[in-house]
Amino acid sequence: MDPDHIGARILIVDDDEHIAKGLDYALTQQGYETNVQYTGKATIVAAAEWGPDLLILDLKLPDIDGLEVLAELRSRESTANTPVILLTAARTDPASRVEGLQLGANDYVIKPYSLSELLARVAANLRMARLTQRLEEMTHRLADVASRDALTGLYHHGKIMEKLSMEIYRAARYGVALSCIMIDLDKFKSINDTFGHQVGDEVLIRISNILKDNCRKTDMVGRYGGEEFLMILSHTPQQSACAKAEVLKEKISEEHFVSLPHGSRITASFGVASLGQSEDDDATALVKRADDAMYAAKAAGGFRVVCLTP
Ligand code: GH3
Ligand code: MG
Ligand code: MG
Repeated sequence: MDPDHIGARILIVDDDEHIAKGLDYALTQQGYETNVQYTGKATIVAAAEWGPDLLILDLKLPDIDGLEVLAELRSRESTANTPVILLTAARTDPASRVEGLQLGANDYVIKPYSLSELLARVAANLRMARLTQRLEEMTHRLADVASRDALTGLYHHGKIMEKLSMEIYRAARYGVALSCIMIDLDKFKSINDTFGHQVGDEVLIRISNILKDNCRKTDMVGRYGGEEFLMILSHTPQQSACAKAEVLKEKISEEHFVSLPHGSRITASFGVASLGQSEDDDATALVKRADDAMYAAKAAGGFRVVCLTP
């Protein structure tokens, strides 16, 4: 047996006690964990509570039909993709087999079945389920990596703008506040020019972490450009966003960087903009206002927060 499958949970469903017990014995011998049910209703409960990795499901059950059980399992999130092998009678069930496959059964075995074939099908279906799960996890991880900036791990420009568009849509739909903060490091070029790009990179990573560590779970941070960051604050009116920007401004300026001479500090300029200041706000317009505010902060000497009100 595939070592990956040891301890895999098989839910055996057959109202014929002889068949159910026989399968139970054979599968336990193989190293599987088993659970035996004799009715459709009990199967639905056991599938939800016990969390099987695979079901062997007889079509003829005393209360609800096996196909109904299958449809119910497929409609529930926790069992929507759990492999199901149907057990069907040779002459009576050809139409049901087709319907079963259409309903999302993964395989079927005809009674009287060969035990070795059934065991081989159980192993093959578990293997396929495991591969599918790995593929899903990998796709998920790849999508996450593809949405992030390689240096800082923050959302990259495209992703943070996509998130902002989504948040604007949500805020407008539910009538809630939304603000964003544009953050640009002051005189950052001189850090690179004086200490080298590697030190500059370290500083960018540390500042990204400060921004991440100082926002709520519902807030989002992206690297908008080289040394520019965009923070989205959901459910946050402008006044609170400005207060938040003040806190971030202090945190960044208080940070001690080991690669920089003792006593040196990094400062940043902040521009805050909020939804609702303009009729047709979209992500581009909101960022433009935050950017204008940030440039106003720069023009006034940097290391400050500017909140543009209409
Ligand atoms: P200001 O106060 O007007 O914002 O001045 P500044 O020097 O911060 O702005 P400027 O736009 O002149 O320069 C930005 C610098 O950011 C230049 C560039 O070398 C640096 N930078 C951008 N991306 C990276 C990066 O990934 N790593 C490093 N080390 N530096 C970067
Ligand atoms: Mg800049
Ligand atoms: Mg700058």
